[in-house]
Amino acid sequence: MRAERILILDEQAVTREKRTGRSGREIMRKSYLPGPLLVPSCSTFIATGLVAGWTFLYDTTARKTRITGGCGLQGTRSTQSTTVKADVAIIGAGVVGAAIARELARYDLRVVLIEREVEAAFGTSKANSGVVHAGFHSTPGTLKASLCVHGNAMFDDIAAELSVPFRRNGCLMVAMSRDEVGVLREHFEQGRRNGVPGLRLLDADEARKLEPGLAPEVVAALYAPTGGVVCPYQLTFALVENAIANGVTFMAGSPVTSIHLRDGRVMAVETPEAIIETAWVVNAAGLFADRIGAMAGDESFEIRPRKGEEYLLDKRVGSLVRSTVFPVPTPVSKGILVIPTVDGNIMVGPTAEDTRDRLDLTTTRAGFEAVFAAARRMVPSVSPRDIIASFAGLRAACSEDDFIIRPSRVARGLVHVAGIESPGLTAAPAIARMVAEILREEGLEMRARRAFNPVRPAPVRFAHLSRAQQARLVASEPAFGRIVCRCETVTEAEVVDAIRRGARTVDGVKLRTRAGMGRCQGGFCMPRVMRILSRELGIPVKQVTKRGPGSVIAPYPAKALLRAGRAEVGIEAEAEAEAEAEACSANGIGVRAAIKAGTGSPGGAGPGADSKVARGTRVRRADGIETGFQAAPTTGR
Ligand SMILES: Cc1cc2nc3c(=O)[nH]c(=O)nc-3n(C[C@H](O)[C@H](O)[C@H](O)COP(=O)(O)OP(=O)(O)OC[C@H]3O[C@@H](n4cnc5c(N)ncnc54)[C@H](O)[C@@H]3O)c2cc1C
Repeated sequence: MRAERILILDEQAVTREKRTGRSGREIMRKSYLPGPLLVPSCSTFIATGLVAGWTFLYDTTARKTRITGGCGLQGTRSTQSTTVKADVAIIGAGVVGAAIARELARYDLRVVLIEREVEAAFGTSKANSGVVHAGFHSTPGTLKASLCVHGNAMFDDIAAELSVPFRRNGCLMVAMSRDEVGVLREHFEQGRRNGVPGLRLLDADEARKLEPGLAPEVVAALYAPTGGVVCPYQLTFALVENAIANGVTFMAGSPVTSIHLRDGRVMAVETPEAIIETAWVVNAAGLFADRIGAMAGDESFEIRPRKGEEYLLDKRVGSLVRSTVFPVPTPVSKGILVIPTVDGNIMVGPTAEDTRDRLDLTTTRAGFEAVFAAARRMVPSVSPRDIIASFAGLRAACSEDDFIIRPSRVARGLVHVAGIESPGLTAAPAIARMVAEILREEGLEMRARRAFNPVRPAPVRFAHLSRAQQARLVASEPAFGRIVCRCETVTEAEVVDAIRRGARTVDGVKLRTRAGMGRCQGGFCMPRVMRILSRELGIPVKQVTKRGPGSVIAPYPAKALLRAGRAEVGIEAEAEAEAEAEACSANGIGVRAAIKAGTGSPGGAGPGADSKVARGTRVRRADGIETGFQAAPTTGR
């Protein structure tokens, strides 16, 4: 069965549509996702029947349901496990696994992309600098060097095909003293040997002409015009979407727990809910690639995580620099950069701290100080006053000096794509080509699939349209007239589209649409996004999570807690609510504060604030576009 013939409907939608008596084709035309099929987890979306030739998949906890078709997924689901037959299983849906999945979709192969998080890109690929490196940093002759330069050159096409924001803004490595000029020359020579086009050494005046915001201490610079910036998670989502549209099966929320071998050859990989029978496995599991190797008895390398903290500044100061500004590198990293992101913010970072903890994504005072001291040395007007968000990512540094991209020497059929630290984002498209070549050389039969379509339709970005275009959209679809995120002007229609493209969590919506990424960081829009997720996924609001299991946001409605008072909620529920509120407050949501203060949460954040906002009137322009909100007077409690 073809992916295009499948609709994803939640339970409510199935009931609603069945009542209308429309044919499947009419329903399809009406609104539901016409192309890609996203299977967040084998356990949640189950085929339930055919209406006029269309397969409905709906969200259910029903057991022993037979899967009748769906995007290459074949087999019968019992209570515990589905057996899926695949030619290639890719473990890890970061930018690397996603790029490999899309590359393999060019061939007549059954490809399964397996991800343990509920969405793609939730590993390192969502938390990095987003720089498309030019390629002068890496030692000539290494995979890092060749794949970086090759990957960089592929970005114009890939960004155009997938409608992903990408800009060649140039990379500028600055020398702050005469001693550092020698390092610039070494990198100029290194870049030339790596094949980086257009490299130039600039004196202080030339550098400042290019970047007037540079510190007076800058004495020279190395300029690479091919350097760029991309949105790393948008790229990953788009790669996955396009892979799915071309027949790849995506299994999210499915941690690989074991790899089955027979006579030293891969036979299957196992997740808690499925056995994927396959002779070829690509290990693109990022920080956990060594654990995947160990599952197949291959302990030839070890991942040694290195943390990087980054700080995002308000768009107000988005034009401090045009190029990505680098210092001369340290032995373990490219140093702390000043990056004009593709979305128009400035970002500063990252630090480089070795850690044993593969889940440590905390930011620290020391990291903050190191980042701003280094960034301000190069660009003095960078200021911590402009911070709107901070985050940390973990590089999958490893026991070898280079990327590890090779067939396992222990388990036949297993190909490692490990140790993909920076410039892994840049190199991802080239890594994907290389992996396809390795699979072919190792004996996988690969016939080109003529139907491969490299184009992914662009999502609408309401904020980027002219007034006239916006008005036309609102007239055709009223959900474009309902603004969900005011900071970034994101509409309800865009949020719904993001969910239909695969978002399952508040973070998933945020990363796809930018709802919650503006100055108020979700204080206004998060409750709205939660309600839309709840409606579209057919789950109660309290089951909506920030980023998957263990991150519920509103286990109890704050309004009910506030109104009823603690006694009525009950001691047990109260204790639970307290515990959950702790978790929420760790996630930056002020539920606990709301409970304590007996008012809406601070700064308008969290569900409490939403219940306040709900009392009042939406203000609209004549063309129907929402421009504001007139709050009703509060009565106090
Ligand atoms: C702070 C920082 C800044 C960076 N800046 C840049 C930059 O500017 N430019 C650049 O080119 N590179 C940069 N990088 C490097 C780049 O981010 C990485 O090379 C790239 O994201 C790696 O992608 P990946 O797909 O290999 O890993 P990930 O994105 O981590 O993907 C691996 C996936 O595997 C999944 N997984 C793990 N175990 C299992 C399992 N058992 N079963 C199923 N799935 C599993 C994980 O959940 C994860 O989603 C930076 C890295 C960091 C940390």
